[in-house]
Amino acid sequence: MIALDLPPEQRLSTLTAQLATGTTAYNPTLYLSRARAYLDLGFPDLASGDAYRAVLLTDYVRDYLEEGELSASPADYDDDEREDAEEFRAATHAWRYITSSPTPLETLEEASLSLLARSLHLVGCNEQATSYLRLALRRFPNSPKFSSLLQETSASPASSGKARRFVYPWNHHEPDRFSSETLEYLNTRVIPASSKNVEVRVVKLPLLGENAEDLGTTTQLGVFATADIGVGEVCLEEESALTVVTDPMDGGLCEYCGQRWEGETSTCSLCADAEAEGIETVVPVWCSTHCRDSAIEKYHPALCTRPTAPLHRAANASSATALTATSQPGGSVYALLLLKTFAMALVQNTHPLSLPETKYLYGVPPIEEAGDLRIGWGWEENVRGAVGILEALGVDVFTGTSHLSKAAEPEWWNTWVVNTLIAKFRGVASGRLDSRGYTEAAAAHTLYSLVNHDCEPNVRWECGGIMKFWGVGKEEGAEEGAAVRKGEELKSCYCDKSLGYKERREWMMGCLGGCCRCERCLREEREEMEGGKVLN
Ligand SMILES: [Zn+2]
Ligand SMILES: [Zn+2]
Ligand SMILES: [Zn+2]
Repeated sequence: MIALDLPPEQRLSTLTAQLATGTTAYNPTLYLSRARAYLDLGFPDLASGDAYRAVLLTDYVRDYLEEGELSASPADYDDDEREDAEEFRAATHAWRYITSSPTPLETLEEASLSLLARSLHLVGCNEQATSYLRLALRRFPNSPKFSSLLQETSASPASSGKARRFVYPWNHHEPDRFSSETLEYLNTRVIPASSKNVEVRVVKLPLLGENAEDLGTTTQLGVFATADIGVGEVCLEEESALTVVTDPMDGGLCEYCGQRWEGETSTCSLCADAEAEGIETVVPVWCSTHCRDSAIEKYHPALCTRPTAPLHRAANASSATALTATSQPGGSVYALLLLKTFAMALVQNTHPLSLPETKYLYGVPPIEEAGDLRIGWGWEENVRGAVGILEALGVDVFTGTSHLSKAAEPEWWNTWVVNTLIAKFRGVASGRLDSRGYTEAAAAHTLYSLVNHDCEPNVRWECGGIMKFWGVGKEEGAEEGAAVRKGEELKSCYCDKSLGYKERREWMMGCLGGCCRCERCLREEREEMEGGKVLN
């Protein structure tokens, strides 16, 4: 038990430490206490992740009790032979904690559902809050708190959630972006694999707000030319292991690099055998031995023969509607990026936010700059989907352990980690459409993510698996001369540059985190204000 009068920060760290020690991770009471600490700190999104785990545990216990499989002193709770070994293990441990505490199961079930619904309502996911409340009322028809909250949520408009986006105070994985170590790492380890004539430097950019007001500047990283780059000249070619293809079996794209394959390919015979036996696994197609070896070294052992095909089907089915004109992939494609990140974490024995592929992606500003900035947050995407991915990978959803990684612990897969990863993907991932307009591939590239935006770009990019940048003249159709002079910053346009400035700003709110204040936007805004030529 933990004293409720402790400050929430202290409760949070104590509970997190307790949940990281062995079978205490199956104690539903600890998740409820931590959900309350998150709520007290103003994070209903993180509270919902813990309340959901408490709901899962009490559900498992209820189910096995009704089947008569749980006794007060279980002897065989680590029976790995069972098909439902994970659930049964969680239920037997949870039941042991419940029977040794003064709080009966019904009270815990009621508290878990109530906290989950309240958190979802607070984060803005009213529809999901309503459906959990309906479920709760079927189980506890006389509970006054469910009916009054249901009145509130069903009267609120259906909406998607919004959650704060910033570096959580307990997130120690973000690099100091402007330190000499970071610059040296990027310039000596990352750049040489992709380019000869660019370097990363620290740069001042306008700080962006919601209304294009002048808020001063902020420090960022940028990519600069170390030699003149001509119009049409390729200046950067970057490969990323954090590339996903929605249909890695029949889509014609390499599962590792995302390029369209031709001629000889290779695959994994273990995966092919598993699929032939009826397991819903993905049989990857790799375009070269380099791609096969890289996949096996970086992540494939965690995906090998695992039932991940349904995740790809979901991404395929929804990708047509989820894409916007800024080429940002939608929710279920983020699930595939999350799946690959988790697989890399397991195989490389590294926290998901400390991988070379994720660590330097910018997507979460420091608290001083983020203020109260909130971005889209989805119950399916950030909590339920993440739990489904862990199940598909065979990671214990409560203890966070896996036979593949000795280092894995519950904090690796916490909702705040998922939120941070998805914020990074939303910020910097690029998507590619096939001829029908469906997303066929998406990727997150570190250097690409460091090229800043300008509505008057001097480089353009295209990602056919490998991310390529080349110089473009300011005037459309210019073919000669230097697009970027030595010492100048490379700037690409994150949206369709033929749009008017208001539309451009609207499109880019999510990826820029505010209203664009580039020279062209300010000029066009000024011209409109002065009553001159109206450009929109
Ligand atoms: Zn390849
Ligand atoms: Zn395999
Ligand atoms: Zn602009």
